Amino acid sequence: MRFETRAIHDGQKPDPLTGAVTVPVYQTSTFQQESIGQHKGYEYSRTGNPTRHALEEAIASLEGGAYGLAFASGLAATTAVLSMLRTGDHVVAGDDLYGGTYRLLEQVFCRWGLTTTYVPVDDPHAYEQAMTGNTRMIWIETPSNPLLKLVDIRAVAEIAHKNNVYLAVDNTFASPFVQQPLALGADIVVHSTTKYIGGHSDLVGGVVVVDDPAIFEAVKFHQNAAGAVPGPWDAWLTLRGLKTLAVRMDRHQENAVFLAKYLDGHPKVEQVYYPGLPGHAQHALAKKQMSGFGGMISMQLKGGYAAVEAFVAHLTLFTLAESLGGVESLVNYPATMTHAAIPSEERIRRGITDSLVRLSVGLENKLDLKADIAEALSRV
Ligand SMILES: *Cc1c(COP(=O)(O)O)cnc(C)c1O
Repeated sequence: MRFETRAIHDGQKPDPLTGAVTVPVYQTSTFQQESIGQHKGYEYSRTGNPTRHALEEAIASLEGGAYGLAFASGLAATTAVLSMLRTGDHVVAGDDLYGGTYRLLEQVFCRWGLTTTYVPVDDPHAYEQAMTGNTRMIWIETPSNPLLKLVDIRAVAEIAHKNNVYLAVDNTFASPFVQQPLALGADIVVHSTTKYIGGHSDLVGGVVVVDDPAIFEAVKFHQNAAGAVPGPWDAWLTLRGLKTLAVRMDRHQENAVFLAKYLDGHPKVEQVYYPGLPGHAQHALAKKQMSGFGGMISMQLKGGYAAVEAFVAHLTLFTLAESLGGVESLVNYPATMTHAAIPSEERIRRGITDSLVRLSVGLENKLDLKADIAEALSRV
C-alpha cells in the first residue's frame, strides 16, 4: 500500500477489546499477569506499551523499515543509537548538524571515550578519508541543519559498507514522506518526531527505525535499560500527527518553494539555501534522492546582525522560536538559538554566521506569508 494509506492504517487497527477506531491511550504503568510469566505481551510500560507500540509499527512502515522504536525525544533516540558503540570507537559525522547532536558527541559521549571527526557534509569522499581502524559509525543529516546541504546517501552507504561501519541518518528535516534513507542503503534512521512527524508543536519525541534485527535488538535493549521512553499520551499525539504527514508535507513544500523563489534574488537577501532552487549546488541530487524539497529555508541577509534583528522584529506571522516542522511558521536565529552549543569560531567556520536566518515554513496561506516577509524585509 502507498504512503498515505499506511500512515492511517499501519499499526493502528481498531482496538481488539472495544472496537475503538482510534488507538486508545493506554495510560497504565503495568499489566496484569494471569499467572507468573503468563501475560498478553505487555508487562511494564517502560518495556512496552500498546499505544507506543502502535506508533512504533506505524513509523517503521512509513520509513520502509522492519522495526521502529520510540523515545522521549530526538536526542534520546540519538543516544540509544550511539550507545551501541564502545569506548575507543570512532564516529565520522557531517560538519553541518543539529547543535544538540554535536553537544552530545562532544560533551557526553566524548567523556566515555568515543571520538568523532567532522567532515564537509556534502563530500562523500571526505567520509572515507576520515575513517580509522576504529570507525564504527557514520552519522549524517540530510538536508543538513541549518545550511540545507545534502549528503548523497547512496554514495556514503557504499563507503560505510565497504568499510564495515553503520550508516545512521537523521531524517528529521526531510520526513519519511520526502526521503526514505533505508531504501538508499542506510542502516539506521533517526527522527526528532517533535518536528514534522508530530507536526503541531505540541510534543517532544524521537524514533529509531532499522531493518537489521541485530541493530533492533541492541537499540531496544538500550530503550528498556536506559528508559528514555515516551509516555502513552505523547505516543498518541505523535500518532495523531503522523496520520496527516503526507498532506501537511505537500503544503509545507508548496509554500516553501513559493517563498524560496521570492527570496532568491531579493535585494535585501545575500543568499538563499533551499534544495528546491535550481541554483542550489545539489539540486540534481535533491531531485534524485528526495521526492520533494521539504519546508525549511535558510538565508543570509545583507547587513549582518542588525538586519537580522530588524527582520525578526517586524515579522508577525513567523514566530521567533526554536524548533520546526509545525503547522505554524517559525523563524530561528541559529547562531544563538539552535546552534548555540557550537563554539563561535567553529560555528562561523561552518557558515553559521551572524546574518543567517532559518525559516520553518508553515501551513498558513502562502500569500500571507509572503506579505509578512516582504513587510519585514522592507524594514531592514
Ligand atoms: C530537533 C532536532 C533533533 C533533536 O530532537 P529533540 O526532539 O529536540 O530531542 C535532532 N536532529 C534534528 C535535525 C533536529 O532538528
